[in-house]
Parts: sequence; C-alpha cells; structure tokens
Amino acid sequence: MAGLRQLRQALAVLEPGALACSGARCPLCGPTLLVRLNRSEQGVRCVRCGASPVHLALAAALHASGIDLAACDAYELSARGPLVAWLRRHARSLTVSEYLPELAAGAVRDGVRNEDVQRLSLATASFDLVTHTEVLEHVPDDARALAELHRVLRPRGWMAFTVPLHDGAHTIERARLRDGRIEHLLPAAWHTDPLRGGAGILVWRDYGRDLPARVRAAGFGHVAVHRPAASVAWFVPRAVIIARKEGP
Ligand SMILES: [Zn+2]
Repeated sequence: MAGLRQLRQALAVLEPGALACSGARCPLCGPTLLVRLNRSEQGVRCVRCGASPVHLALAAALHASGIDLAACDAYELSARGPLVAWLRRHARSLTVSEYLPELAAGAVRDGVRNEDVQRLSLATASFDLVTHTEVLEHVPDDARALAELHRVLRPRGWMAFTVPLHDGAHTIERARLRDGRIEHLLPAAWHTDPLRGGAGILVWRDYGRDLPARVRAAGFGHVAVHRPAASVAWFVPRAVIIARKEGP
C-alpha cells in the first residue's frame, strides 16, 4: 500500500468474504498485486500505486493506442490520485483542475485550478492529450463539455475517458437544467465525491452504446471503445473511450 491513509481507506471498504488477490502487471507501476476489497465495481486496487479500475483501464488504453506520453502536454480533469501521479511522471507537462464553483474560472486554491469543463478558461489548442474519469455523467451539458475539450486539444490530439457505460442502445437523460433549476426526469442518482464527501454529486445521465456517436458529434474525427484484456479472472476491466481530433 502506498501509505497508512490508503491502508485505512482500504480497510474501511473491506468485505472479508470478497477478498481476492492476484499477481498482475499494473499499466501504471509495473509488476504488482491486484487486490479485491469488495464486490463493487470500484472495489479493486493495485497494492503498489493504489490505482482503481478506471485508472488501470485508462492507462492500459493509452499504452495500447501507442500514445507517446513523453511527447504530450496533458490535461487531466482531477487534481490528485494515482492517475495524476502517473501522468505527472510520464507526460511532458501536466495541467490539472477540479470543479470548484466557489472560485473564478482559472483561479487556483491550494495548487488546484478551478475549471468548469463546459466553459474552460484554457487556451485553444493547448494540449496533446486530455483525460477524465467518471466526470462526464456529472456535467449538465455534456455536449458543450466535449466541444470544449475538443477546442483545447491540438490537431491530432487525443482524448481518453471513462464513464459508467450501460447496455442500452441510447443514453438516458436522468435530469436537465430548465431556467437554471434542476428538473429530474428519473429518480435522482448520486455518486460519492472523494474530494467533498457528503451527499455526493448528481448523475445527469446513464450513457448507452450511442456514446461514441455523441463524442463524434462534438467534432472528434476518430472515436473507439477500448476494452483492456482481462488478465485476472475476478477482474473485468472498464471500457475506455479513445477519441482523436482530426488534423494534418
Ligand atoms: Zn499500480
């Protein structure tokens, strides 16, 4: 384990009956053990770097796509954790942000930049790679967010991300904004936010198999769903969307 704090967090979510452990190769830190702490989808961790299933899948997808991180100015839509540490070690440069609505766009607090992905304060064509995990389902206007991420990418730049993907053919909107107020179309669903704790953050939609088409509609020329190979019997890796901006 990376430290005492991580060990405490692991023990807090441990279901003894679900405990499983297996040797594996972590795409972030190399030879390791993967441990299953509970049967939830996010109950698996790399014991060396603490990477979660979405981190493991995202890094594996970047490797498989042949993206040279050392040649990438990267932007990640979270400010801490194993994925950020890995990108910081390997990318040419890394910009990180969180959504801190009490701050002005682009303002920095405790080293963390505030950005609303629907209206980024970042310059057009600034990055070769943008990454985000489990963010887009929490954004009221995801089409606008995808268009903004496309804008800040350089031509031929990459976007890699995860969201919870459902089996349905079509994305189902669970809520929408009307006159600045949240209108619930389905019973409200919440995910916990590790940064803020408390009641969690609203899930605006459940993504279906039309997600690649939604990404293409934001201007990306090439969009693929990458499913990392399963190397451990009890661990089903997450699907990752890999998209590329067109360019010369
Ligand atoms: Zn690892």
